[in-house]
Amino acid sequence: MTKTRTRFAPSPTGYMHIGNLRTALYEYLVAKKDGGDFVLRIEDTDQQRYVEGATDIIYDTLKAVGLEHDEGPDKPGPYGPYIQSERLPIYQEYAKKLVELGGAHYCFCDMNDIENQKEEASKEGKTYKFADPCRFLTKEEVQAKLDAGTPYVIRQTINPIGKTKFHDEVYGDIEVDNDTLDEGVLLKSDGYPTYNFANVVDDHLMHITHVVRGNEYLSSTPKYNLIYEAFGWEIPTYIHVAPVMKDETHKLSKRNGDASFQDLVAKGYLPEAILNYIALLGWAPETDQEIYSLPELIQAFSVNRLHTTPAIFDIDKLTWMNGIYLRQMTLDEFCDICVPYLKEVDDRFNKREICEILQPRVAVLSEIPEMVDFFNALPAYENDLYINKKMKTTLEIALKALNLAKDLFASMDDWQMDHIHDALMNLAKEQGMKNGQLLFPLRVALTGKKFTPGGAIEISHILGKEESIQRIEKGITQLSE
Ligand code: GLU
Repeated sequence: MTKTRTRFAPSPTGYMHIGNLRTALYEYLVAKKDGGDFVLRIEDTDQQRYVEGATDIIYDTLKAVGLEHDEGPDKPGPYGPYIQSERLPIYQEYAKKLVELGGAHYCFCDMNDIENQKEEASKEGKTYKFADPCRFLTKEEVQAKLDAGTPYVIRQTINPIGKTKFHDEVYGDIEVDNDTLDEGVLLKSDGYPTYNFANVVDDHLMHITHVVRGNEYLSSTPKYNLIYEAFGWEIPTYIHVAPVMKDETHKLSKRNGDASFQDLVAKGYLPEAILNYIALLGWAPETDQEIYSLPELIQAFSVNRLHTTPAIFDIDKLTWMNGIYLRQMTLDEFCDICVPYLKEVDDRFNKREICEILQPRVAVLSEIPEMVDFFNALPAYENDLYINKKMKTTLEIALKALNLAKDLFASMDDWQMDHIHDALMNLAKEQGMKNGQLLFPLRVALTGKKFTPGGAIEISHILGKEESIQRIEKGITQLSE
């Protein structure tokens, strides 16, 4: 049996679009489900779009999410090179072969003429179809032009009569009339291939068995099949996937910073959570399980549960999932990834302890700086903050609570967390106060905020006795004015 081989074929555009990463994931899953190979091929034939360092972003992203390729520019294999710009002689050779086989022809037309014809047609409201006169040149005429050094492209030759049919694993059987297919350029005058040609040649030579790509390629797939047929090559299995959208009508856009893997990581999302989330964008598992490790995805994935309709990227759902991943970490792991987000917090505070109160509450790491901004300095706040219906606190109760807490703290020598806890609980009991009536005002005085990670006990422990008392005194003064 042939070994399953898939390829991820990104163009190095300088960032990893979420839709592309999802395609890579599905490519990977299709291959690994069958114990096959996952190949990385860099499609850099559009030199105008080339961005320095873009290939490194592709390597780094695949590495960060654990989609390890078996062959690629950095992992030599039997079918290299894996960068298209290094394969130009191959495309040139095959383009010429295709001409001999009748699947393509030399075209010496001036591009400007073609553009003019297009414009004319659109002015007249007609649909333009390029009827290439070069198709009818004799072999000798072609040779004479080549000998004279006339610039040329190689164009696909398509017999306009008849239909081309193909099967897609997601979209089913598709049939098109050949006269709707344009005779596009396969090899440009500078010797570079177009995507339309390079993808076919490479997928064949690299023994790719399953092609997973965006459904924007569905309409050109018949043209690719005509090339496969002209060469007498086996057609791969096609798996076209629906796009990822921002909402019903808008694509994810680079400009809004919501489209790329790097943007999401910079916002504090974990690579594993992003990968898990995008797996479910466009694919429905058989059960209602939502959290999947990569090995679990390999197990559960099936092509026949891919959706045909676009998926909408739901940042809230990703945020929720990210929170689950953060809570699954050990405290050590969590502390490690929090380091950059806690760098503004003074070293006099125990960062590990801060992480401990953060871990159950953080959904996205970028929220952290704002959550811990009260440690270094107490922010200004209004007395209204002390009034809380649910906690049953009033300004009077708050003032009483702060006075009691201040005296209690002043009398304490042992600043262990459980000691602070027991002392405060006893105090509330003795005073006939609800815990919240003591702890809520205390937390407000310590932080100046309504919502904080951790409660009054943990926060006073982190702040230390002296700092806590100072902040309580500030609260008392403010409430007594
Ligand atoms: N280079 C193409 C892209 O980035 C790849 C399409 C394909 O997978 O064939 O869209």
